[in-house]
Amino acid sequence: MLTTTTALNAYDVALENFDAAADVLKLDQDTREMIKFPERILTVTVPVRMDDGHIHRFEAYRVQHSSVRGPAKGGIRYHPQVTLDEVKALATWMTWKCAVVNIPFGGAKGGVTCDPKHMSQPELERMTRRYTSAILPLIGPDQDIPAPDVYTNSQTMAWIMDTYSMTKGYPIPGVVTGKPLSLGGSLGRNEATGRGVFYTIQCACEYLGLPLKGARVVVQGFGNAGTIAAELLYQAGAKVIAVSDSRACVFNRDGINIPELIHMKTLTGHVEGFPETESITPEDLLALDCEILVPAALENTIHAENANSVRARIVAEAANGPITPGGDRILERNSAFVIPDILCNAGGVTVSYFEWVQDEQHLFWEAQDIFDRLERVMKTAFRDVLAIHTNQKVSMRIAANMLGIGRVAEAVKIRGIYP
Ligand code: NAD
Repeated sequence: MLTTTTALNAYDVALENFDAAADVLKLDQDTREMIKFPERILTVTVPVRMDDGHIHRFEAYRVQHSSVRGPAKGGIRYHPQVTLDEVKALATWMTWKCAVVNIPFGGAKGGVTCDPKHMSQPELERMTRRYTSAILPLIGPDQDIPAPDVYTNSQTMAWIMDTYSMTKGYPIPGVVTGKPLSLGGSLGRNEATGRGVFYTIQCACEYLGLPLKGARVVVQGFGNAGTIAAELLYQAGAKVIAVSDSRACVFNRDGINIPELIHMKTLTGHVEGFPETESITPEDLLALDCEILVPAALENTIHAENANSVRARIVAEAANGPITPGGDRILERNSAFVIPDILCNAGGVTVSYFEWVQDEQHLFWEAQDIFDRLERVMKTAFRDVLAIHTNQKVSMRIAANMLGIGRVAEAVKIRGIYP
């Protein structure tokens, strides 16, 4: 697999980022103890009959980091490198993220250590259903609501919703978000993360006085988040000069035709060999001369060893945790403007919230209504984070964490749930 990743523990990064923001907030020790660590951690074994008849045992997790501000909320990841610590980190970030965009959810995450690219659809379905049964005591529309993440999609959510509903005897669409439209999914959910990334890039460009039209863009990771962000940037007149997925990095200094590349990726499953592009290495891709870099794959992509090579003016974290604290320090020294993950990619959970509200109300909204609401939420959150960044003279990451952690701290104090 293509990689620039460093082997840093994502949960250590999450805790370090928490401490940095809590220190500036001067958060007292008691409150830190109450909100910093996961509330519930479940490790399960998922035995699955594979197509060749043998039983394979998968390790899987569901972590609820916080339910202080509402039901826990967070995606499910299928990937060979899923570990408990990674899931804990992702659950922690979900808590602060939901608070940054001020939606009434806490944070959670799930993951199965598996290689979905080498599994058939029936194997994936059996694994998903068995995993759902295993985490059943934790999930529910008022408790904990899963959604798609890396290598899971609306079909995965449909299987979870069906398995959960079978145990209750009636359909409960609100148990997951990111469902197909025919099962109570929301218009706009599929493109929500990338659209939110786009809105925050628009805000950053406006703040920095950088015209989006003609800006050179590099997108690392061409999945759900990366393709939609690339497409919207392309439509806005930006020039997407390089794109990568887990197999290849493609580059054209005059710009890549993104709708055609998406068409090819849909047909073939990869970006390799796209006409009029040259192949470059993952390191070269991150070091390209550009205005906007969008890491949209996995954690720890930009770190202390390669951050100095990044030349982008704006780094928009579509992925969760793509920059390590060491990478952050170097980017800050080099005056790169980082739109931190818990702000940048919060469009996904925001439209998940809209989907949950629609399911609960049995009343569905029009696409334009959803886009308008999403734009308002993302731009308000950007303004709130930027105000802390400029007033308190802290990095955008610390500012976003201060906003999220501050709101959770306030909620926990008002609830008084820990006398
Ligand atoms: P996805 O499975 O749709 O896409 C992941 C993409 O990354 C794939 O194209 C894959 O080929 C590529 N990839 C994997 N390893 C790579 C590597 N080393 N170099 C380059 N590309 C690589 O997943 P997604 O939903 O788009 O998620 C991507 C990131 O965005 C994750 O960090 C995820 O947590 C985050 N995110 C997703 C959502 C969402 O709603 N889907 C919401 C918030 C955050």
